[in-house]
Amino acid sequence: MEMLAKTKGEEFQDAALRLFHIAAEHLHLDSGIREKLKWPKRELTVHFPVKMDDGTIQVFVGYRVQHNVTRGPAKGGIRYHPDVTLEEVRALAALMTWKCAVVNVPFGGAKGGVRCDPKKMSLRELEGLTRRYTTEISVFLGPESDIPAPDVYTNAQTMAWIMDTYSMHKGYSVPGVVTGKPIALGGSLGRKEATARGCVFTIQEAARELGLDLPRATAVIQGFGNAGSIAAMLLHELGVRIIAVSDSRGGAFNPKGIDPTRVLEHKGKTGTVATFSEADRISNQELLELPCDILVPAALEGVITKENAPRIKTRIMAEAANGPTTPEADPILFANNVYVIPDILANAGGVTVSYFEWVQNLEMLHWSEDDVNRRLRDIMTRSFQEVREIAAKERVAMRTAAYILAVGRVAEATLLRGVYP
Ligand code: NAD
Repeated sequence: MEMLAKTKGEEFQDAALRLFHIAAEHLHLDSGIREKLKWPKRELTVHFPVKMDDGTIQVFVGYRVQHNVTRGPAKGGIRYHPDVTLEEVRALAALMTWKCAVVNVPFGGAKGGVRCDPKKMSLRELEGLTRRYTTEISVFLGPESDIPAPDVYTNAQTMAWIMDTYSMHKGYSVPGVVTGKPIALGGSLGRKEATARGCVFTIQEAARELGLDLPRATAVIQGFGNAGSIAAMLLHELGVRIIAVSDSRGGAFNPKGIDPTRVLEHKGKTGTVATFSEADRISNQELLELPCDILVPAALEGVITKENAPRIKTRIMAEAANGPTTPEADPILFANNVYVIPDILANAGGVTVSYFEWVQNLEMLHWSEDDVNRRLRDIMTRSFQEVREIAAKERVAMRTAAYILAVGRVAEATLLRGVYP
């Protein structure tokens, strides 16, 4: 009988589960707790109509998955993409549970998604889709129960529509129902930069441990969106020489160094970094294999595989993207002494400042940007050190160590709460 190939979402789900089981083995969790932590708490699938600009009605499918809420309200972004599936949302929701536990913010994990092609939709259609999707999943939402945030192809404007729709139903304004909002609606200073800033804090810790002098180091960055472009700027500010950057149209390479501010200007004018005139063109594949000290994948999942892993020549790889490394590539990187800072640690700065935003909303306070960044640094460096200590003690890779820390925290909370009734 012919075996059906797994979808990308199914593979992602398998990879997330595999990491969970490795951690559960290390922690000697019994099978009942394992089953409890493995399955999502609840999953909502909604089909809903949207009036399109041409007068037709189109029906979309959307999901909201709450993976685990043992340690606090469910937290996780909403993705608009043509490839969204329940399996992908499920994997991303589980990742959120572990990510929140690694940095020890009092949230559980969730994720949402709508299968659509936002690049082909007008702003009015996107607003209609967002408001109806919010209404459909509102049985889950609330500042104490489930708090969405932006993810791929959703942004601060999308969050503003969600906040408004939810507030209209309630009859009063509820800023704490979403994070990643515009500053004017209660968004936090420093949230936009938080993922990249948190990632750079972890790079600084790894560099210190390896004795790598950042002003003499080189970096390669894949993806020049929110996470990638800001990571490039922050590393450049620390004196790191950025030798290559890329986006979906290709990369730009200059061994003498690239000024990320000038690349951003170029992308603003032309829509891509690939044609930056002060550098040579390079493919995304070649870019990943450039010899460098710091590699930051900040675009898509599944880009480091068993095929290219043996050719990765970096000392530190900081996963700003979610799931950039396949499970088969991981042991190859470990054997080759690549210091991998795993996604659930490296990009947790985003959810950390989302947590700060939620706290500010609940307390009706505003923190200064310095205050946000200082608190972010404390949490990222402390979490990095906790993961590193487990890695040293258990003689495992940083990724396994991060899962051991995260799964251990959620398991402890589960045992303390007990089984209801
Ligand atoms: P974004 O949409 O702002 O940027 C994505 C970038 O990747 C763009 O420059 C795009 O051109 C590029 N890209 C797309 N396809 C590519 C390809 N095939 N090859 C190379 N580059 C390609 O998204 P973002 O918010 O920066 O997110 C990037 C990654 O970081 C995602 O994996 C996301 O889940 C993860 N992440 C983001 C946040 C956050 O707060 N923004 C938090 C945690 C994790």
